[in-house]
Amino acid sequence: MTDLVDRPADAARPGHPGGHPGARGGHPGGHPGGHPHSAPSRRHLDFDSAPFIAIWETTQACDLACKHCRASAQPLRDDRELTTAEAKAMMKRLREFGPIVFVFSGGDCFKRPDIVELVEYGANLGMRMGITPATTSLATKELLIQLRDVGLTRVAISLDGSNAAIHDEFRQVKGSFDHGLRILREAQEVGLSTQVNTVIRKANIDDMHAMTELMTTLGVVFWEVFFLVPMGRAKAEDVASADEFESVFHQLYDLSKTAPFDIKATAAPQYSRVVMQRKRAEVREGADEDVSEVMTRGMHYSQSDGIGRARNVNDGDGFVFISHVGDVYPSGFLPVAAGNIRDDDIIEIYRNSPVFQALRDRTQLKGKCGVCGYRDACGGSRARAYAMTGDYLAEEPFCAHVPKREPLIPSPAPRTVLPLHPLQP
Ligand code: SF4
Repeated sequence: MTDLVDRPADAARPGHPGGHPGARGGHPGGHPGGHPHSAPSRRHLDFDSAPFIAIWETTQACDLACKHCRASAQPLRDDRELTTAEAKAMMKRLREFGPIVFVFSGGDCFKRPDIVELVEYGANLGMRMGITPATTSLATKELLIQLRDVGLTRVAISLDGSNAAIHDEFRQVKGSFDHGLRILREAQEVGLSTQVNTVIRKANIDDMHAMTELMTTLGVVFWEVFFLVPMGRAKAEDVASADEFESVFHQLYDLSKTAPFDIKATAAPQYSRVVMQRKRAEVREGADEDVSEVMTRGMHYSQSDGIGRARNVNDGDGFVFISHVGDVYPSGFLPVAAGNIRDDDIIEIYRNSPVFQALRDRTQLKGKCGVCGYRDACGGSRARAYAMTGDYLAEEPFCAHVPKREPLIPSPAPRTVLPLHPLQP
Protein backbone atom coordinates (compact mmCIF):
# COMPACT_ATOMS: atom_id res chain seq x y z
CA MET A 1 0.00 0.00 0.00
CA THR A 2 1.38 3.36 -0.98
CA ASP A 3 2.61 5.65 1.75
CA LEU A 4 0.93 8.98 1.06
CA VAL A 5 2.40 10.96 3.90
CA ASP A 6 3.53 14.38 2.70
CA ARG A 7 3.39 13.33 -0.89
CA PRO A 8 3.14 16.40 -3.12
CA ALA A 9 0.01 16.46 -5.25
CA ASP A 10 2.08 17.09 -8.35
CA ALA A 11 4.07 13.98 -7.72
CA ALA A 12 0.91 11.96 -7.45
CA ARG A 13 -0.71 13.31 -10.58
CA PRO A 14 1.58 15.12 -12.94
CA GLY A 15 0.46 17.49 -15.59
CA HIS A 16 -3.18 17.97 -14.73
CA PRO A 17 -4.33 21.33 -16.09
CA GLY A 18 -6.39 22.08 -13.04
CA GLY A 19 -3.55 21.40 -10.64
CA HIS A 20 -2.72 23.70 -7.80
CA PRO A 21 0.98 24.28 -7.45
CA GLY A 22 2.15 24.16 -3.93
CA ALA A 23 -0.82 22.23 -2.64
CA ARG A 24 0.04 19.07 -0.86
CA GLY A 25 -1.84 15.84 -0.79
CA GLY A 26 -1.55 12.96 1.51
CA HIS A 27 -2.33 11.73 4.89
CA PRO A 28 -1.73 14.29 7.58
CA GLY A 29 -1.03 12.19 10.56
CA GLY A 30 -3.65 9.59 9.91
CA HIS A 31 -2.64 6.31 11.42
CA PRO A 32 -4.88 3.32 11.39
CA GLY A 33 -4.80 2.01 14.91
CA GLY A 34 -3.85 5.36 16.35
CA HIS A 35 -5.74 7.24 19.00
CA PRO A 36 -9.41 7.05 18.12
CA HIS A 37 -10.18 10.69 18.62
CA SER A 38 -6.92 12.37 17.80
CA ALA A 39 -7.42 15.60 15.89
CA PRO A 40 -6.23 15.69 12.30
CA SER A 41 -3.55 18.30 11.87
CA ARG A 42 -4.38 21.55 10.13
CA ARG A 43 -3.59 20.85 6.51
CA HIS A 44 -5.11 21.54 3.13
CA LEU A 45 -6.01 18.90 0.62
CA ASP A 46 -6.02 19.48 -3.09
CA PHE A 47 -9.07 18.04 -4.83
CA ASP A 48 -6.85 16.63 -7.58
CA SER A 49 -5.15 14.58 -4.93
CA ALA A 50 -7.91 13.74 -2.49
CA PRO A 51 -11.66 14.19 -2.17
CA PHE A 52 -13.25 16.28 0.54
CA ILE A 53 -15.96 13.67 1.00
CA ALA A 54 -16.56 9.98 0.27
CA ILE A 55 -20.06 8.57 0.40
CA TRP A 56 -20.65 4.86 0.66
CA GLU A 57 -23.97 3.34 -0.35
CA THR A 58 -23.88 0.76 2.42
CA THR A 59 -26.88 -1.12 1.01
CA GLN A 60 -29.77 -0.53 -1.34
CA ALA A 61 -32.16 -2.13 1.13
CA CYS A 62 -34.71 0.27 2.59
CA ASP A 63 -38.24 0.10 4.01
CA LEU A 64 -39.22 3.34 2.31
CA ALA A 65 -40.12 3.54 -1.37
CA CYS A 66 -39.28 7.12 -2.25
CA LYS A 67 -40.68 8.28 -5.55
CA HIS A 68 -37.38 9.62 -6.84
CA CYS A 69 -34.98 7.24 -5.13
CA ARG A 70 -31.53 7.49 -6.66
CA ALA A 71 -30.78 3.90 -5.64
CA SER A 72 -34.15 2.45 -6.72
CA ALA A 73 -34.06 0.90 -3.26
CA GLN A 74 -36.10 -2.16 -2.26
CA PRO A 75 -36.64 -3.96 1.04
CA LEU A 76 -34.06 -6.76 0.82
CA ARG A 77 -30.29 -6.60 0.94
CA ASP A 78 -28.29 -7.59 -2.13
CA ASP A 79 -26.05 -10.60 -1.47
CA ARG A 80 -23.37 -8.94 -3.60
CA GLU A 81 -23.01 -6.08 -1.08
CA LEU A 82 -19.56 -5.35 0.29
CA THR A 83 -18.79 -7.58 3.25
CA THR A 84 -17.75 -6.18 6.60
CA ALA A 85 -14.12 -7.00 5.84
CA GLU A 86 -14.31 -5.39 2.40
CA ALA A 87 -15.93 -2.29 3.86
CA LYS A 88 -13.19 -1.99 6.47
CA ALA A 89 -10.46 -2.37 3.87
CA MET A 90 -12.10 0.36 1.79
CA MET A 91 -12.36 2.70 4.77
CA LYS A 92 -8.73 2.10 5.69
CA ARG A 93 -7.62 2.93 2.17
CA LEU A 94 -9.88 6.01 2.03
CA ARG A 95 -8.35 7.22 5.28
CA GLU A 96 -5.02 7.35 3.48
CA PHE A 97 -6.38 10.26 1.46
CA GLY A 98 -6.26 12.25 4.67
CA PRO A 99 -8.98 13.49 7.02
CA ILE A 100 -11.80 13.31 4.50
CA VAL A 101 -15.44 13.17 5.53
CA PHE A 102 -16.97 9.71 5.24
CA VAL A 103 -20.73 9.20 5.01
CA PHE A 104 -22.66 5.95 5.48
CA SER A 105 -25.55 6.30 3.06
CA GLY A 106 -28.02 3.92 1.44
CA GLY A 107 -30.72 2.67 0.96
CA ASP A 108 -30.97 2.56 4.72
CA CYS A 109 -27.60 2.04 6.39
CA PHE A 110 -29.44 0.71 9.45
CA LYS A 111 -30.37 -2.35 7.37
CA ARG A 112 -26.77 -3.48 7.83
CA PRO A 113 -26.26 -5.37 11.09
CA ASP A 114 -22.58 -4.38 11.14
CA ILE A 115 -23.22 -0.63 11.08
CA VAL A 116 -22.06 -0.02 14.67
CA GLU A 117 -18.94 -2.12 14.11
CA LEU A 118 -18.13 -0.15 10.96
CA VAL A 119 -18.66 3.23 12.59
CA GLU A 120 -16.40 2.17 15.45
CA TYR A 121 -13.80 1.05 12.93
CA GLY A 122 -13.97 4.42 11.18
CA ALA A 123 -13.64 6.24 14.49
CA ASN A 124 -10.54 4.23 15.29
CA LEU A 125 -9.12 5.33 11.95
CA GLY A 126 -9.77 8.94 12.94
CA MET A 127 -12.46 9.45 10.31
CA ARG A 128 -14.99 12.28 10.46
CA MET A 129 -18.24 10.44 9.88
CA GLY A 130 -21.85 11.13 9.15
CA ILE A 131 -24.73 8.73 8.73
CA THR A 132 -27.99 9.04 6.79
CA PRO A 133 -30.52 6.50 8.07
CA ALA A 134 -33.99 6.24 6.59
CA THR A 135 -36.79 7.81 8.59
CA THR A 136 -38.22 4.55 9.92
CA SER A 137 -38.57 2.74 13.23
CA LEU A 138 -35.19 1.05 12.66
CA ALA A 139 -33.53 4.29 13.82
CA THR A 140 -34.04 3.80 17.54
CA LYS A 141 -32.64 5.96 20.30
CA GLU A 142 -30.71 2.94 21.60
CA LEU A 143 -28.97 2.57 18.26
CA LEU A 144 -28.15 6.27 18.17
CA ILE A 145 -26.58 5.95 21.63
CA GLN A 146 -24.49 2.99 20.49
CA LEU A 147 -23.31 4.95 17.47
CA ARG A 148 -22.48 7.98 19.56
CA ASP A 149 -20.53 5.81 21.97
CA VAL A 150 -18.37 4.36 19.19
CA GLY A 151 -17.55 7.75 17.68
CA LEU A 152 -20.25 8.90 15.26
CA THR A 153 -20.27 12.65 14.65
CA ARG A 154 -23.42 13.60 12.77
CA VAL A 155 -26.81 12.17 11.80
CA ALA A 156 -28.49 13.45 8.64
CA ILE A 157 -32.24 12.94 8.25
CA SER A 158 -34.34 13.49 5.14
CA LEU A 159 -37.31 15.82 5.36
CA ASP A 160 -38.83 16.54 1.99
CA GLY A 161 -41.70 18.72 3.03
CA SER A 162 -42.83 20.96 5.82
CA ASN A 163 -45.56 18.52 6.90
CA ALA A 164 -46.35 14.83 6.95
CA ALA A 165 -48.65 14.96 3.95
CA ILE A 166 -45.94 16.26 1.59
CA HIS A 167 -43.07 14.22 2.99
CA ASP A 168 -44.94 10.91 3.38
CA GLU A 169 -46.42 11.19 -0.10
CA PHE A 170 -42.87 11.42 -1.47
CA ARG A 171 -41.43 8.68 0.76
CA GLN A 172 -44.57 6.59 0.21
CA VAL A 173 -44.73 5.39 3.81
CA LYS A 174 -47.12 6.91 6.34
CA GLY A 175 -45.37 8.01 9.51
CA SER A 176 -42.00 8.67 7.87
CA PHE A 177 -42.18 12.42 8.56
CA ASP A 178 -42.91 11.84 12.26
CA HIS A 179 -40.02 9.38 12.46
CA GLY A 180 -37.76 12.05 10.94
CA LEU A 181 -38.67 14.60 13.60
CA ARG A 182 -38.29 11.94 16.31
CA ILE A 183 -34.86 10.85 15.10
CA LEU A 184 -33.66 14.46 14.98
CA ARG A 185 -34.91 15.06 18.52
CA GLU A 186 -33.44 11.85 19.91
CA ALA A 187 -30.11 12.36 18.16
CA GLN A 188 -29.85 15.80 19.72
CA GLU A 189 -30.86 14.40 23.12
CA VAL A 190 -27.97 11.93 23.03
CA GLY A 191 -25.52 14.60 21.94
CA LEU A 192 -25.15 13.97 18.22
CA SER A 193 -25.13 16.89 15.83
CA THR A 194 -27.88 16.82 13.24
CA GLN A 195 -28.47 17.71 9.62
CA VAL A 196 -31.56 17.76 7.41
CA ASN A 197 -31.51 16.74 3.76
CA THR A 198 -34.30 17.96 1.48
CA VAL A 199 -34.93 17.05 -2.14
CA ILE A 200 -36.25 19.94 -4.21
CA ARG A 201 -38.47 18.85 -7.05
CA LYS A 202 -41.35 20.26 -9.03
CA ALA A 203 -43.92 18.83 -6.62
CA ASN A 204 -42.61 20.58 -3.49
CA ILE A 205 -41.34 23.85 -4.95
CA ASP A 206 -44.32 25.75 -3.50
CA ASP A 207 -43.55 24.35 -0.04
CA MET A 208 -40.12 25.98 0.16
CA HIS A 209 -41.21 28.94 2.22
CA ALA A 210 -42.89 26.74 4.84
CA MET A 211 -39.91 24.39 4.73
CA THR A 212 -37.44 27.16 5.51
CA GLU A 213 -39.64 28.21 8.44
CA LEU A 214 -39.66 24.64 9.77
CA MET A 215 -35.89 24.40 9.40
CA THR A 216 -35.28 27.30 11.75
CA THR A 217 -37.07 25.39 14.53
CA LEU A 218 -35.20 22.09 14.32
CA GLY A 219 -31.86 22.82 16.01
CA VAL A 220 -29.77 21.36 13.19
CA VAL A 221 -26.27 22.49 12.22
CA PHE A 222 -26.64 21.93 8.48
CA TRP A 223 -29.32 21.95 5.79
CA GLU A 224 -28.37 20.14 2.62
CA VAL A 225 -30.77 20.95 -0.20
CA PHE A 226 -30.65 18.46 -3.06
CA PHE A 227 -31.85 19.55 -6.47
CA LEU A 228 -33.35 16.54 -8.18
CA VAL A 229 -31.31 14.73 -10.80
CA PRO A 230 -33.47 12.66 -13.16
CA MET A 231 -31.98 9.22 -12.55
CA GLY A 232 -33.01 6.17 -10.55
CA ARG A 233 -36.78 6.50 -10.15
CA ALA A 234 -36.79 10.25 -10.94
CA LYS A 235 -37.91 11.45 -14.36
CA ALA A 236 -37.00 14.66 -16.20
CA GLU A 237 -40.53 15.98 -15.75
CA ASP A 238 -40.14 15.70 -11.96
CA VAL A 239 -37.31 18.26 -11.98
CA ALA A 240 -38.18 21.88 -11.27
CA SER A 241 -37.45 24.37 -14.05
CA ALA A 242 -34.28 26.47 -14.30
CA ASP A 243 -36.28 29.53 -13.22
CA GLU A 244 -37.69 27.63 -10.24
CA PHE A 245 -34.15 26.57 -9.30
CA GLU A 246 -33.15 30.21 -9.48
CA SER A 247 -35.98 31.27 -7.21
CA VAL A 248 -34.98 28.66 -4.60
CA PHE A 249 -31.32 29.77 -4.79
CA HIS A 250 -32.38 33.29 -3.90
CA GLN A 251 -34.55 32.03 -1.05
CA LEU A 252 -31.60 30.02 0.28
CA TYR A 253 -29.28 32.98 0.02
CA ASP A 254 -31.74 35.20 1.90
CA LEU A 255 -32.12 32.51 4.56
CA SER A 256 -28.34 32.11 4.87
CA LYS A 257 -28.08 35.65 6.24
CA THR A 258 -29.94 34.74 9.42
CA ALA A 259 -30.11 30.95 9.61
CA PRO A 260 -28.50 29.31 12.64
CA PHE A 261 -27.20 26.54 10.40
CA ASP A 262 -25.08 26.20 7.31
CA ILE A 263 -26.72 25.65 3.93
CA LYS A 264 -25.45 23.63 1.03
CA ALA A 265 -27.00 23.12 -2.39
CA THR A 266 -26.22 19.66 -3.75
CA ALA A 267 -26.34 18.86 -7.47
CA ALA A 268 -26.72 22.60 -7.98
CA PRO A 269 -23.36 24.34 -8.07
CA GLN A 270 -25.21 27.22 -9.74
CA TYR A 271 -26.04 28.29 -6.21
CA SER A 272 -22.40 29.45 -5.94
CA ARG A 273 -22.98 31.68 -8.95
CA VAL A 274 -26.15 33.17 -7.46
CA VAL A 275 -24.39 33.83 -4.15
CA MET A 276 -21.53 35.58 -5.97
CA GLN A 277 -23.94 37.64 -8.04
CA ARG A 278 -25.93 38.67 -4.99
CA LYS A 279 -22.79 39.58 -3.04
CA ARG A 280 -21.42 41.60 -5.89
CA ALA A 281 -24.68 43.51 -6.13
CA GLU A 282 -24.60 44.14 -2.39
CA VAL A 283 -20.99 45.36 -2.54
CA ARG A 284 -21.96 47.71 -5.39
CA GLU A 285 -24.69 49.04 -3.16
CA GLY A 286 -22.26 49.74 -0.35
CA ALA A 287 -21.86 46.51 1.60
CA ASP A 288 -18.28 46.10 2.74
CA GLU A 289 -18.14 42.33 3.10
CA ASP A 290 -15.35 40.69 1.16
CA VAL A 291 -16.89 38.75 -1.71
CA SER A 292 -14.32 36.02 -1.17
CA GLU A 293 -16.06 35.21 2.10
CA VAL A 294 -19.49 34.67 0.63
CA MET A 295 -19.29 30.91 0.61
CA THR A 296 -18.31 30.66 4.23
CA ARG A 297 -21.47 32.13 5.67
CA GLY A 298 -22.66 29.94 8.50
CA MET A 299 -19.48 27.90 8.34
CA HIS A 300 -18.84 28.02 12.03
CA TYR A 301 -22.06 26.20 12.71
CA SER A 302 -21.29 23.19 10.60
CA GLN A 303 -17.67 23.27 11.73
CA SER A 304 -18.85 23.00 15.31
CA ASP A 305 -18.97 19.22 15.08
CA GLY A 306 -15.79 18.88 13.04
CA ILE A 307 -17.52 17.81 9.81
CA GLY A 308 -17.47 21.14 8.04
CA ARG A 309 -17.92 21.53 4.33
CA ALA A 310 -15.86 22.52 1.36
CA ARG A 311 -16.46 24.97 -1.40
CA ASN A 312 -16.84 24.05 -5.04
CA VAL A 313 -17.15 20.33 -4.55
CA ASN A 314 -18.60 18.84 -7.70
CA ASP A 315 -19.01 15.35 -9.10
CA GLY A 316 -15.60 13.67 -9.09
CA ASP A 317 -14.03 16.93 -7.98
CA GLY A 318 -13.71 16.68 -4.22
CA PHE A 319 -16.32 13.92 -4.22
CA VAL A 320 -16.27 10.15 -4.60
CA PHE A 321 -19.11 7.64 -4.24
CA ILE A 322 -18.83 3.90 -3.67
CA SER A 323 -21.87 1.78 -4.49
CA HIS A 324 -23.18 -1.12 -2.40
CA VAL A 325 -21.24 -3.56 -4.60
CA GLY A 326 -18.05 -1.49 -4.65
CA ASP A 327 -18.37 0.40 -7.92
CA VAL A 328 -16.67 3.81 -7.76
CA TYR A 329 -18.60 6.76 -9.17
CA PRO A 330 -17.92 10.51 -9.30
CA SER A 331 -21.13 10.92 -7.27
CA GLY A 332 -24.23 8.99 -6.42
CA PHE A 333 -26.10 10.85 -9.15
CA LEU A 334 -23.53 10.21 -11.89
CA PRO A 335 -23.57 6.44 -12.54
CA VAL A 336 -20.41 6.19 -14.63
CA ALA A 337 -18.24 3.60 -12.92
CA ALA A 338 -14.52 4.31 -13.01
CA GLY A 339 -13.60 1.02 -11.33
CA ASN A 340 -14.53 -1.27 -8.46
CA ILE A 341 -12.81 -1.44 -5.11
CA ARG A 342 -12.75 -5.24 -5.32
CA ASP A 343 -10.40 -5.01 -8.29
CA ASP A 344 -8.96 -1.51 -8.28
CA ASP A 345 -7.32 0.92 -5.89
CA ILE A 346 -9.70 3.74 -4.97
CA ILE A 347 -6.90 6.28 -4.61
CA GLU A 348 -5.67 5.43 -8.09
CA ILE A 349 -9.23 5.69 -9.45
CA TYR A 350 -9.87 9.07 -7.85
CA ARG A 351 -6.60 10.59 -8.95
CA ASN A 352 -5.98 9.07 -12.32
CA SER A 353 -9.06 7.56 -13.96
CA PRO A 354 -10.01 9.39 -17.17
CA VAL A 355 -13.54 10.07 -15.88
CA PHE A 356 -12.41 11.72 -12.67
CA GLN A 357 -9.63 13.65 -14.39
CA ALA A 358 -12.00 14.96 -17.06
CA LEU A 359 -14.51 16.06 -14.44
CA ARG A 360 -11.82 18.07 -12.64
CA ASP A 361 -10.68 19.78 -15.82
CA ARG A 362 -13.26 22.51 -16.33
CA THR A 363 -11.65 23.62 -19.59
CA GLN A 364 -13.33 20.53 -21.09
CA LEU A 365 -16.85 21.73 -20.27
CA LYS A 366 -19.10 22.23 -23.27
CA GLY A 367 -21.88 24.61 -24.25
CA LYS A 368 -22.54 27.62 -22.11
CA CYS A 369 -20.76 26.14 -19.08
CA GLY A 370 -17.57 26.06 -21.17
CA VAL A 371 -17.69 29.81 -21.84
CA CYS A 372 -19.28 30.90 -18.61
CA GLY A 373 -17.43 33.28 -16.33
CA TYR A 374 -18.55 31.16 -13.38
CA ARG A 375 -17.09 27.98 -14.85
CA ASP A 376 -14.50 27.54 -12.12
CA ALA A 377 -16.76 28.55 -9.27
CA CYS A 378 -19.71 26.53 -10.54
CA GLY A 379 -19.26 24.26 -13.54
CA GLY A 380 -22.87 23.07 -13.46
CA SER A 381 -24.13 19.72 -12.23
CA ARG A 382 -22.21 17.13 -14.17
CA ALA A 383 -24.71 14.50 -13.02
CA ARG A 384 -27.70 16.39 -14.40
CA ALA A 385 -25.86 17.05 -17.66
CA TYR A 386 -25.21 13.31 -17.95
CA ALA A 387 -28.78 12.37 -17.01
CA MET A 388 -30.22 14.68 -19.65
CA THR A 389 -27.71 14.25 -22.49
CA GLY A 390 -25.53 11.20 -21.81
CA ASP A 391 -22.47 13.50 -21.76
CA TYR A 392 -21.12 14.45 -18.37
CA LEU A 393 -19.22 17.37 -19.89
CA ALA A 394 -22.29 18.91 -21.54
CA GLU A 395 -23.72 22.18 -20.30
CA GLU A 396 -25.94 22.14 -17.22
CA PRO A 397 -29.44 21.93 -18.67
CA PHE A 398 -31.15 23.57 -15.67
CA CYS A 399 -29.26 26.84 -15.29
CA ALA A 400 -30.95 30.16 -15.95
CA HIS A 401 -27.70 32.05 -16.44
CA VAL A 402 -26.83 33.17 -19.97
CA PRO A 403 -23.11 33.97 -20.22
CA LYS A 404 -22.41 37.22 -22.06
CA ARG A 405 -18.76 37.42 -23.07
CA GLU A 406 -17.86 37.63 -19.39
CA PRO A 407 -14.33 37.19 -18.12
CA LEU A 408 -13.54 34.08 -16.12
CA ILE A 409 -14.40 34.88 -12.53
CA PRO A 410 -12.05 33.25 -10.06
CA SER A 411 -13.43 30.74 -7.65
CA PRO A 412 -14.30 32.51 -4.37
CA ALA A 413 -11.68 30.51 -2.54
CA PRO A 414 -8.99 27.97 -3.27
CA ARG A 415 -10.48 24.55 -3.86
CA THR A 416 -9.18 23.24 -0.63
CA VAL A 417 -10.53 21.74 2.52
CA LEU A 418 -10.99 24.22 5.29
CA PRO A 419 -9.10 24.13 8.56
CA LEU A 420 -10.06 21.08 10.49
CA HIS A 421 -11.51 20.84 13.92
CA PRO A 422 -11.17 17.96 16.35
CA LEU A 423 -13.59 15.11 15.98
CA GLN A 424 -14.47 15.15 19.63
CA PRO A 425 -14.30 17.88 22.24
S1 SF4 B 1 -23.79 28.34 -17.32
FE1 SF4 B 1 -22.88 26.51 -16.32
S2 SF4 B 1 -21.05 27.27 -15.26
FE2 SF4 B 1 -22.32 29.07 -15.75
S3 SF4 B 1 -23.56 29.41 -13.93
FE3 SF4 B 1 -24.76 28.11 -15.31
S4 SF4 B 1 -24.32 26.01 -14.67
FE4 SF4 B 1 -22.73 27.34 -13.80
